[in-house]
Amino acid sequence: MREKLTASRIRPILIRKLLTICPVCKKKIYGRDIDILKIDTSKITHWPLRYIHCHTNNDVPLHALTIFIDSNFSVRGNEVSSFLKIEK
Ligand SMILES: [Zn+2]
Repeated sequence: MREKLTASRIRPILIRKLLTICPVCKKKIYGRDIDILKIDTSKITHWPLRYIHCHTNNDVPLHALTIFIDSNFSVRGNEVSSFLKIEK
């Protein structure tokens, strides 16, 4: 019961939290942009987590922003690649 209360309190904070700003196009990345609440932390064996967010913004072509997130959901760094191909 106590844990549930904590989780419900932290959820809205994480969704609204500004995680990082893309160094290439200056897009602000919030928790909701990366579906932060859908990340199953029980499946993560190695921190920081690398989360890759592909986006376009301000006429900048598609690029991939890698966000390094620690176990407290704080961002430890980011990296951008403009060279990518997504195959399905
Ligand atoms: Zn960007």
